[in-house]
Amino acid sequence: MRQYDAVVIGAGNGGLTAAVRLAQGGAKVLLVEKHNLPGGFATSFRRGRFEFEASLHELNDFGAADNAGDVRVLFDELGVTDKIEWIPIPDAYRVICSAEKLDATMPFGVDAFVEKMEKYVPGSRKSVRAFFDLAEEVRLAQAYTNSSNGKVDSKYMVEHFGNFVRCGSYSVNEVLRSLHMPKRAREILSAYWCYLGANLDDMSFVHYASMVNRYILRGAMSPKSRSHEISLALVERIRELGGEVLFNTEAVRILTNEEGICGVVLDDGTEIGTRHVVANCSPHVVYGKLIENVPERIVRATNARKFAGRGFTMFLGLNESADELGIKNHNYFLYDTMDSVAQYEKMRTIEENDVQATVCLNRAQPDCSPEGTCMMYFTTLYMEDDWARIKPQAYFKAKEFVANRMIDRFEQDTGAKIRGAIEEISVATPMTYARYCGHPQGVIYGYESQYWDGLMPRLQMMGEDYENGIRGLRFASGWSMRLSGYSSSYFAGDIAGRQTVGDIKREG
Ligand SMILES: Cc1cc2nc3c(=O)[nH]c(=O)nc-3n(C[C@H](O)[C@H](O)[C@H](O)COP(=O)(O)OP(=O)(O)OC[C@H]3O[C@@H](n4cnc5c(N)ncnc54)[C@H](O)[C@@H]3O)c2cc1C
Repeated sequence: MRQYDAVVIGAGNGGLTAAVRLAQGGAKVLLVEKHNLPGGFATSFRRGRFEFEASLHELNDFGAADNAGDVRVLFDELGVTDKIEWIPIPDAYRVICSAEKLDATMPFGVDAFVEKMEKYVPGSRKSVRAFFDLAEEVRLAQAYTNSSNGKVDSKYMVEHFGNFVRCGSYSVNEVLRSLHMPKRAREILSAYWCYLGANLDDMSFVHYASMVNRYILRGAMSPKSRSHEISLALVERIRELGGEVLFNTEAVRILTNEEGICGVVLDDGTEIGTRHVVANCSPHVVYGKLIENVPERIVRATNARKFAGRGFTMFLGLNESADELGIKNHNYFLYDTMDSVAQYEKMRTIEENDVQATVCLNRAQPDCSPEGTCMMYFTTLYMEDDWARIKPQAYFKAKEFVANRMIDRFEQDTGAKIRGAIEEISVATPMTYARYCGHPQGVIYGYESQYWDGLMPRLQMMGEDYENGIRGLRFASGWSMRLSGYSSSYFAGDIAGRQTVGDIKREG
């Protein structure tokens, strides 16, 4: 039997990062990925003369070399920053809610953001500035929590991050109201909520503040050759460090004995000996499919969690340029209402969900598609498993219904006319995402952020969760302690990889 110090299951962002960390820590590591290419959602695909980005709208918290964000610092440590060509995203976002006569385009940079908000909402400056001050404290408190692997000294927390501790258990809406921020400013500031997929009555303030701060403080980036470029760089790095990567290889069973993990079975029947597994797939898949005789307390704890949004994306290759079509921005949020609680309710069904986050990549990278063309992708989330009720015979009609509505909505809200220029169209539904990455119900955002299961509880429970779990098993993905998103899943891989190196060293 081949023996490894650790096996990583899945080459998504979390799995790739964990594998680099393990190899850097001197572990003999094997990474297995069921697809023929790495990245999970972090990939690209071709239709005709267009290479589409599969998921990334923008990577936050990267920053410039002389003003590095946490993701750049991590990529520097992993040794991959210079393997990737980075292109900055021009503006933070444009949010449009025609029903409420809102159309705001917000810039990157805290000062510029605060001043632009003051122009849209006179009198908002002080409260918006207070938000960013608080958000920065949140960022620093999280950095401290990460660096201590969740074992925080509460006295140190109170002394250094008092305001963070004070707002730690409140929702976004509760804290924004307490800052006396005018309603319209709250609405504009809330536009990013669909990136996290929980409404702002439920979403923990520290989680949202951390993300907004990471976007606005240092801007956002996109890799020149789509997110696939990042995934390839990470694979190259694993191999440089002596790690092994097997594609077209699915882990079908994780073996356990009375001490914990003892091996992994691959789809060709090969048995790998290991005492450590880092799972890049969801706990639902690991405990429901890969491990037998899972203790009941783990099954219950896993089932207590709530699935976050199920994905739907339409990709368009257009045979006119963004200028010709009147597409002015890189990143649009189109809402029916700026009340995230009401909007979340509408996102439960195919008929009512009309929300979209839309990107025109050419606005960041003019030459990402052939001259005289442009590319767009339109994403929405479903807050219930509504696609499960669609019968196979009605599936294509349902896809067409949503795709048409997305185009109509974009044309009405922005005035750009795109329908007549469609050269390529591809549509991914929750079924596509369930099949591609194996996530239940086509969920693309892991477990939803709840007040008891948000960013801070997960970070602070890391040690206890491991002790109460199966010895040798850690999770690294959008389903784990940092929640979903690119940066979050890279950080999850970083934490799980480093912790597993520590486990291996402790065990000798
Ligand atoms: C349309 C869309 C748009 C998005 N936009 C953004 C954005 O703009 N910004 C942002 O930050 N985030 C965005 N996200 C979210 C982001 O893509 C994810 O949070 C992140 O990529 C998840 O990474 P992960 O580590 O969880 O791995 P996943 O991408 O979930 O990959 C898991 C991998 O594990 C493999 N695997 C599973 N089971 C097995 C097994 N048994 N054996 C072998 N391999 C296995 C799968 O094949 C897959 O490759 C978006 C997602 C989507 C779908």
